[in-house]
Amino acid sequence: MKRLILLGGGHSHLEVVRRFGLGAPYGTQVTLVDAAQFATYSGMLPGLIAGHYSFDDCHVDLARLAQTAGVGFVQSRACGIDTARRRVVFDDGARLDYDVLSVDVGSTPPTAQVAGAAEHAIAVKPFSVFAQRWERLIASALAGSLRNVVVVGGGAAGLELVLAMQYRLAQAAPARPVDFTVVTAAACLVPDHHAATRAVLARWLNARGIAVHLNATVERVEPAAVILSNGTDISSDATIFATGAAAPSWFASTGLALDARGFVSVTQSLASVSHPEVFAAGDCATIEGHDYPKSGVYAVREGPVLADNLRRALDGKPLRKYRPQRLALALISGGNRFAVASYGRIALPGAWVWRWKDYIDRKFVRRYRQ
Ligand SMILES: Cc1cc2nc3c(=O)[nH]c(=O)nc-3n(C[C@H](O)[C@H](O)[C@H](O)COP(=O)(O)OP(=O)(O)OC[C@H]3O[C@@H](n4cnc5c(N)ncnc54)[C@H](O)[C@@H]3O)c2cc1C
Repeated sequence: MKRLILLGGGHSHLEVVRRFGLGAPYGTQVTLVDAAQFATYSGMLPGLIAGHYSFDDCHVDLARLAQTAGVGFVQSRACGIDTARRRVVFDDGARLDYDVLSVDVGSTPPTAQVAGAAEHAIAVKPFSVFAQRWERLIASALAGSLRNVVVVGGGAAGLELVLAMQYRLAQAAPARPVDFTVVTAAACLVPDHHAATRAVLARWLNARGIAVHLNATVERVEPAAVILSNGTDISSDATIFATGAAAPSWFASTGLALDARGFVSVTQSLASVSHPEVFAAGDCATIEGHDYPKSGVYAVREGPVLADNLRRALDGKPLRKYRPQRLALALISGGNRFAVASYGRIALPGAWVWRWKDYIDRKFVRRYRQ
């Protein structure tokens, strides 16, 4: 019996497990491992923060999904991969041996690189931790002890987050106004998007009284302030990090070939360039020679190819290639049941875009519940 470990219940592995439920790889024991039992669908996180969704609406129960698909599930946090012995090592000292391993553990905001951020800032990932902190921030706002919030990160995730938080607190605690500020090191908001999308988002931020600091590098995070490298001091009762993606630091000791930012380097077949029995997908992997954003859209699209290639690797057959799309449609929500559709030069805002996004997102989660 061969052993396949699916490490991390990220967006790509959800599809792998679903497909294995429709037809299991022959003669293989498949085990899904995740640090949490519930996987958050990131597209719905801003809606959860804004109060449009419940926890259930935007989470997939990994234990249940695995059970339905005839896959084993282990809830544990990996802290290493012994590639020589083909074994995953966990925080609690446990180990699991593999013949084929697939890694889809996502990424986190790079808080370790900014002084004081690990102690005083709240990272948007892991989502489960962030969601709990958010409930506490709502309670502080109601009590009048939350007056300023700084969101570090001017990408789509940071802006969706700040707009959702502002909306929720304005509804929940209208008599206790909270000031919101976005800080980004970039020269503009959402640099990955066209100027038309940027203009829509800038208009929304302005209309909602959210201040923006561009070209602003955070030098230090203090318990009640964010200090920028130009000396500006911004009062902050809560500092949220929603900046780009950093790779898990434990990848460095695995011996796997990594890219310059520490993500697993894979071929277009999603197999490690150094260890063909190890696959990686989603944010934690970088396809050699391709430069596309760390976004859930790509993790989702990689799922079907990954499922097929894991089967092929177990059977010793040639692998398929995944070709990342050049342009991806992004539906960016404004927290108030409005969203903007961004695709190349096109930026279409409206309430109908939010309803469209809501339909797509709910359908995605439903797919892994049935
Ligand atoms: C606020 C916000 C909104 C976003 N909205 C969108 C959007 O609308 N559309 C979009 O395309 N992208 C969006 N993104 C980006 C998106 O979150 C990521 O690109 C996507 O989640 C990556 O998926 P993944 O499969 O790589 O991993 P993830 O979905 O992050 O899943 C990783 C899994 O691995 C598990 N894990 C992590 N470390 C370990 C470990 N050591 N051991 C065991 N398990 C582990 C985690 O518990 C988790 O279940 C958003 C991001 C944020 C922050």
